[in-house]
Amino acid sequence: MARIVLKFGGTSVADLDRIKNVARHVKREVDAGHEVAVVVSAMSGKTNELVGWVQGAPKVVGANSPFYDAREYDAVVASGEQVTSGLLAITLQAMDINARSWQGWQIPIRTDNAHGAARILEIDGSDIIKRMGEGQVAVISGFQGLGPDNRIATLGRGGSDTSAVAIAAAVKADRCDIYTDVDGVYTTDPRIVPQARRLKKIAFEEMLEMASLGAKVLQVRSVELAMVHKVRTFVRSSFEDPDAPGMGDFLNPPGTLICDEDEIVEQEVVTGIAYAKDEAQISLRRLADRPGVSAAIFGPLAESHINVDMIVQNISEDGSKTDMTFTVPSGDVDKAIKVLGENKEKIGYDVVQNESGLVKVSVIGIGMRSHAGVAATAFKALADKGINIKAITTSEIKISILIDGPYAELAVRTLHSCYGLDKN
Ligand code: ADP
Ligand code: ASP
Ligand code: MG
Repeated sequence: MARIVLKFGGTSVADLDRIKNVARHVKREVDAGHEVAVVVSAMSGKTNELVGWVQGAPKVVGANSPFYDAREYDAVVASGEQVTSGLLAITLQAMDINARSWQGWQIPIRTDNAHGAARILEIDGSDIIKRMGEGQVAVISGFQGLGPDNRIATLGRGGSDTSAVAIAAAVKADRCDIYTDVDGVYTTDPRIVPQARRLKKIAFEEMLEMASLGAKVLQVRSVELAMVHKVRTFVRSSFEDPDAPGMGDFLNPPGTLICDEDEIVEQEVVTGIAYAKDEAQISLRRLADRPGVSAAIFGPLAESHINVDMIVQNISEDGSKTDMTFTVPSGDVDKAIKVLGENKEKIGYDVVQNESGLVKVSVIGIGMRSHAGVAATAFKALADKGINIKAITTSEIKISILIDGPYAELAVRTLHSCYGLDKN
């Protein structure tokens, strides 16, 4: 007997029929004698609808900020998960399975105060452990917890993955299964590249880069937690027949295992390609080339919570003037330009230019640490397709390349095949 946490994403609980199918996966594990906790997302599209309602609601007249009260945003958007946890508990009960729904505040899942993007601080798993020991399935609403102000706090988009891994760590589960609409983690998004291959295993570090660089199959924070707490996490499909052979295999379930790199025997140089849309580039022209100029630019941007990513500074010809280019999410461009405008004198630049609709494609692989020439291969492959590179950043296990939006899919496919990742 083991303790397992199963997480089902939005498409897996999109309607009552899908919820019945989810209940069959749960039943399989219960029948095998395991203690089971289930984490659910809202029905697919629901959270977007709720966010849209909040954005469309009236704002406080005369308020300095164009934004709504984040605590009320959380009160609204957390409701999608309340519906699906209740519906799944009802469905399980109808199948003669002892089940009970739990909201984040009932467990409680304690978070920090960053409403809308809260981090889990602590989970008191004692109550659900006790109930699981008595044979009750805990059906937990993902994406939500309880802030220090005793108000519902949500964990950022895709946050149910993080709920699941955090609960698995808190109840010391033997396994955490993330069920989704694809049957594992692929070498790249299988919806863009049909030749993508499913990975049997992927190292925590690689999955962390893939997720950070745009592969939305897992929320970044869930991978961090799985890595820190050594949670055995599998990504697998909810759309396969729950009773097909091998589905209940405890040690080797179908799907992709996220694990330590030493568990991976045949390490490729490149493991995967990720892409992130909606990047924007901002350039400050004819800056004074002196100490403190970077701090004068990026300090105020950071204070305004603008996430700056790639940074390129040109060497000045005469040692007096230079150009600085960096990227931010497209949604933050207006805010960034405003902040730069307010600090124009302090920074000392001539003009600011911006370009939106760019895409960052990234090549990821632990094998890069010990192989030369990986970047050169990418640059040549992109050049052969006539794709212009606007900026580059690298780390030990990844190369990120900024390109024009319309070339995104071509670039992902090109990189995927130039490293031999296409399936035969
Ligand atoms: P859920 O609603 O179950 O949380 P998501 O939509 O958040 O599901 O994540 C699953 C999606 O992630 C897949 O449908 C797939 O298009 C996308 N995806 C992006 N990159 C990858 C990848 N490398 N491997 C698998 N899926 C990926
Ligand atoms: N329902 C939330 C979202 O759409 C959380 C999740 O699906 O993980 O972001
Ligand atoms: Mg998701």
